[in-house]
Amino acid sequence: MERTYIKDAFEKTGKVELYGWVHDTRDLSKIRFLVLKDISGRMQCVGIKSETKAEVFKLMNSVNRESVVKIIGEVKESKQAPGGKEVLIEEMEVLANAEQPLPIDVSDHSKTELPKRLDYRFLDLHRDKIQAIFKIQSTISMAFREHFIKKGFIEFQPPSIISSSSEGGTELFPAKYFEKSAYLAQSPQLYKQMLACSMEKVMTITPVWRAEKHNTVRHLNECRQMDIEMGFADAKIVMKQMEEVVKYIVEQVIENNKKELEILDIKLKVPEAKYLTFEEVSKLMRKYKVKVGKDDLTGEAEKKLDELFPDTIVFVHDWPLSGKPFYIMPKDEKADAELSEGFDAIYKGMEISSGGQRIHLPELLEKRLKAKGLNPKDFKDYVDSFRFGAPKHGGWSIGLERFTQVLLGLENIREAVMFPRDRDRLTP
Ligand code: ATP
Ligand code: MG
Repeated sequence: MERTYIKDAFEKTGKVELYGWVHDTRDLSKIRFLVLKDISGRMQCVGIKSETKAEVFKLMNSVNRESVVKIIGEVKESKQAPGGKEVLIEEMEVLANAEQPLPIDVSDHSKTELPKRLDYRFLDLHRDKIQAIFKIQSTISMAFREHFIKKGFIEFQPPSIISSSSEGGTELFPAKYFEKSAYLAQSPQLYKQMLACSMEKVMTITPVWRAEKHNTVRHLNECRQMDIEMGFADAKIVMKQMEEVVKYIVEQVIENNKKELEILDIKLKVPEAKYLTFEEVSKLMRKYKVKVGKDDLTGEAEKKLDELFPDTIVFVHDWPLSGKPFYIMPKDEKADAELSEGFDAIYKGMEISSGGQRIHLPELLEKRLKAKGLNPKDFKDYVDSFRFGAPKHGGWSIGLERFTQVLLGLENIREAVMFPRDRDRLTP
């Protein structure tokens, strides 16, 4: 016999061979139940004292929860069983015992706190709720990739070890690289720009590392970013690209993850998009007496935007130049402009992305580096890459875990990454 996945067993009659984990057992003395789960679902398995082999009947009661078992049995209609089917057990074998007690509660309504769960993430991942998050995350990254590949974008893989900062600032993890000093990449920024200036339309999903010491519910020290960069594009063009892909991603999650959304008790709506200047947002916030920074939005302002425009991606553009990195194009290509071609995208009360048009003019780039207190000499290779036929270009970056957190309303971004790296955590 061959393995049948539980989901398929519901479509079958007759004998099946099931493999999975023991989720629950119940003993009603003459009849015993064992809920088996695999990646595709759960099946109630039944043993009857007067019919089932004695050693199998005994094993149904003595097997430890979360142990891996093989079960051979007959699929039967059953009005009481979840899904209308159950399996009458004939043979059962324990393939891998789970020691008891389990270090964390893996039941559906587990009360174990997040840090402890993360210590035992491999076991936490036995839970349907946790699996649901990552099945949805898999749809998110698949939909992102599929959308842009269909539109003619080229997928690229940037280096993870870099020789100097790509964004300015100092929050980098140092790495030893033979006799040179190096860093872990904090963003694929410079590489995707070089690619936009040669291959025009590029996308990537890539890990980045940020050595900021802050410990918040929306930051990790290692995260994945979904990036695009496009030649001949300004901020408006790339914002529209984001509007389209986010709508597509949410559509795909709604279509492909019905079961997972149900498990998580989440109802999703394909978002609308709204475009506002930073000045317009500031005015709105003043009206509602919500604090907003001079060149950045506060967390309260981001939340207020969600209240005012629910289920909407709000693109906040014409961002003050001082609040954006050195590589963002100043308004009208003027080094001392007030505003920039940079933007942030706010969705469900949180920043999901930053982006904008970049500076493709070497002299302007040098001026902006100096204005940010950076030394153009440290960025010579980068600046020089725009001297030999570089068109205007733009792009953005959506954090994969941040997006998952926001979409699913998770309180802590650590719920949206299988094995988080934060200020205190380097294992498992
Ligand atoms: P924030 O203002 O939320 O700290 P940022 O402006 O520093 O983020 P960007 O450099 O704009 O971040 O990165 C682009 C996107 O990558 C962010 O909008 C966010 O979705 C994600 N991101 C950035 N930093 C982190 C982090 N430390 N942990 C998880 N996701 C991140
Ligand atoms: Mg940002």
